[in-house]
Amino acid sequence: MKVFIVHAHAEPGSFNGALSRTAQDTLRAAGHAVTISDLYAMKFDPVSDRRNFITVKNPDYFKQQIEEMHATEAGGFAPDLEAELRKMEACDLMIWQFPLWWFGLPGILKGWADRVFAMGRTYGGERFYENGVFKGKRALLSITTGGPEAVYQKGGWNGDIHAILRPIQRGILRFTGWDVLRPNIVYAPVRVTDEERQASLRAWAARLRAIEAEQPIDVGEY
Ligand SMILES: Cc1cc2nc3c(=O)[nH]c(=O)nc-3n(C[C@H](O)[C@H](O)[C@H](O)COP(=O)(O)OP(=O)(O)OC[C@H]3O[C@@H](n4cnc5c(N)ncnc54)[C@H](O)[C@@H]3O)c2cc1C
Repeated sequence: MKVFIVHAHAEPGSFNGALSRTAQDTLRAAGHAVTISDLYAMKFDPVSDRRNFITVKNPDYFKQQIEEMHATEAGGFAPDLEAELRKMEACDLMIWQFPLWWFGLPGILKGWADRVFAMGRTYGGERFYENGVFKGKRALLSITTGGPEAVYQKGGWNGDIHAILRPIQRGILRFTGWDVLRPNIVYAPVRVTDEERQASLRAWAARLRAIEAEQPIDVGEY
């Protein structure tokens, strides 16, 4: 299996860093090919505008999706985007590793998605959801939080974590055809003991060793 990890944490020594290294090591040891985009290390530019393109459809008025459709036909994506598109298109499983920021993606990863999920190339026409461009591929969010699990329950302080992840799991991934696997969530790694953190890493590794057999989840209504 070809696995593509998109890693969004600025500190290599962070727990997110440990989760990404665990994933890489485990998956490679199981014989899978792993590619990683370490967005901060790459200094990935998250700003979406004309820099996304080497082609121009309308020089007078910038409309991102019109330029994306034109670039799809004309081979007009900027090299940094084209490289990410190809990694995504080549993989069987994509993992996003990130800390939850303001109930969502860190800006660098949101910008990556804003730029890379281009109309024409990754969705459009009749290609959405079960007929989406990435049909048959699987995607998995691996996240950490600051808050403990208790505050991420229905009726809890922050509400159901699955509702929080819905804009990503449904709005981006399922929308473009990915089969979404159950998220890997490590709650409040900063608040637990080192032993508990080690146990989380072992559980993540064990899950990844059996990942090929996993079935997608319902990312529907919450
Ligand atoms: C802008 C912003 C917005 C945020 N919004 C939210 C929000 O909406 N909701 C929310 O819940 N939280 C939020 N947070 C908090 C954030 O989600 C957490 O701080 C983050 O998820 C913690 O993960 P980390 O990898 O940064 O942890 P770290 O602090 O890097 O790591 C935790 C501990 O793990 C240790 N560690 C590292 N490697 C290993 C290893 N191999 N084995 C064992 N231990 C190890 C580290 O030394 C550290 O002690 C926000 C934070 C910011 C900055």
